[in-house]
Amino acid sequence: MQKGFVPFAEVKRAVSLEAVLERYELVPSLTRKGMNLAGPCPFCKGSSGRQFQVNLAKNAWYCFGCKAGGNILDFVAKKEEVSIRTAALKLDSWFELGLVAKEKPHAEAPAHPAETPAASPEAPPAAKEVPPTSNPPLAFTLKTLDPHHESLASLGFSSETIERFGAGYCAKGLLKSRFAIPIHNAEGELVAYAGLAVEEDASPRYLFPPKFHAPLEVMNLYRLPEFAEEGGPLYLAPEIEGVLRLAEVGIVAALALFDGSLSPVQEEAVIGALPLFERLVLMGEGFEDRTVARLARHASLTWSPDLSEEFLPSLPAAHEEEFLCTGKPR
Ligand SMILES: [Zn+2]
Repeated sequence: MQKGFVPFAEVKRAVSLEAVLERYELVPSLTRKGMNLAGPCPFCKGSSGRQFQVNLAKNAWYCFGCKAGGNILDFVAKKEEVSIRTAALKLDSWFELGLVAKEKPHAEAPAHPAETPAASPEAPPAAKEVPPTSNPPLAFTLKTLDPHHESLASLGFSSETIERFGAGYCAKGLLKSRFAIPIHNAEGELVAYAGLAVEEDASPRYLFPPKFHAPLEVMNLYRLPEFAEEGGPLYLAPEIEGVLRLAEVGIVAALALFDGSLSPVQEEAVIGALPLFERLVLMGEGFEDRTVARLARHASLTWSPDLSEEFLPSLPAAHEEEFLCTGKPR
């Protein structure tokens, strides 16, 4: 690991913008509409009560008054009046992420305790990162996950779906009090458990092991051979939960990204699978615009906003039939 290495991307992935806003006790001043928050700007404190806008799905913020915006690092940097790097260090410490290397206690100990926000040579973030090329298989499995735990009721999954994915309520450890969902690599090896919050307002919504590199995986990819034979549409959800939601209504040919973004590895995996399927259906909101644009270069896309009652009857006839046939497992 490089001297003074700060993994900006991992810090960004580990902490939600909502958690940051909560830490500053700003959430009560904002109005929530779906995945968006709006309210007075914490920086310019302008006259309009809605100029500060937050997109929780993208963990992005923008103020129409002071024209400032960005991600959690930009927010903390502006709020604390520090560099992006110092903002990342603060987040690492506040949220006990343990992502910043601490292996050299003496070396380049902060010779410049007061960092200058203006001339931050580390920006742009992520420029120096050398990402890993694979997630090593886990050496353990969580054996005590409870698929029937009462607090899972709010998630609305049937026991069949939960068991199908080997998921369950986690009572201890890093994912304590969360819904643990196993994640496998393309070969079907277990590489991580994701912890989905069971309460709607909890943040972060997903918790991943700090060393897990989500851009290298596509949820459910290893199961593709199982359902490719059917040849119907391939569904893609922006977050892993989507695969379970789809299974819940009998759609098994489904993959998911992690936060709506699409890495080159993920792009290759999704596009590589496409010839086996009739078409690609993007399911749900929360895809980054870039993700949609990149997929659209390779495939004609269908987009479905959700699995609501209004949507299901509007499925194309061919699919409706398939939907009826596949149904929920007993
Ligand atoms: Zn502002």
